[in-house]
Amino acid sequence: MQIGDEIQNTIEYLGRRGVKSLLTPTFVFVDELCPYNPGFYARLNQNLKKILTKGVDEQLREIYGEQNMQKLEKKISELKLPKEVYTEDIIFYQPFKNIDPGFRKSVIVEEVWHFVEAEKNVCCKLICEGTAKYGAYFNTGIEISGNRLSCFDIVKREMEKNHVNVFKAMLDPNVRKRIEDKFVQKLKKEGIGMLLESADELLRFSSF
Ligand SMILES: [Zn+2]
Repeated sequence: MQIGDEIQNTIEYLGRRGVKSLLTPTFVFVDELCPYNPGFYARLNQNLKKILTKGVDEQLREIYGEQNMQKLEKKISELKLPKEVYTEDIIFYQPFKNIDPGFRKSVIVEEVWHFVEAEKNVCCKLICEGTAKYGAYFNTGIEISGNRLSCFDIVKREMEKNHVNVFKAMLDPNVRKRIEDKFVQKLKKEGIGMLLESADELLRFSSF
């Protein structure tokens, strides 16, 4: 499978469902492991991800409080992140080469959906991992519910109960707010311990 063709297919697939993307994401395949996490198949360019997750830190600060966030930020700073070296929108890594075609497709749909959300600059950034993983699942039937900071399950319940056009729904600010409110409640219930134990997951969540 050619990555470029599959990206184009995904853009057309979304277009047929009423989600028109003005741009097609650029991409690069690099025969190396992701420096942030060797298990990554692909990720969105940091600069785009920043658009996508702008304001998430403030939201988490509100949920967990200043002291806890400082602890968390300290942990994250110890992980020492390299600077973004690529200019393409989506970066695919070596492990992507070795996964089967169905799974590859789901990775591509997830990344394209991240790109579309960044392009549309939709509100409620906290939930972007969950919506992207749900988009991939809806398209391919492959379920990767993600880490504990992904709200895939909440998105899935909302979509299956209420929506025919799930992609349009996932861009609707009212729908996103509803998902986000449920996710915030869940995060509050689980407490900061979970976040501190999984700073790398947070990093993945807030940086990609
Ligand atoms: Zn993702």
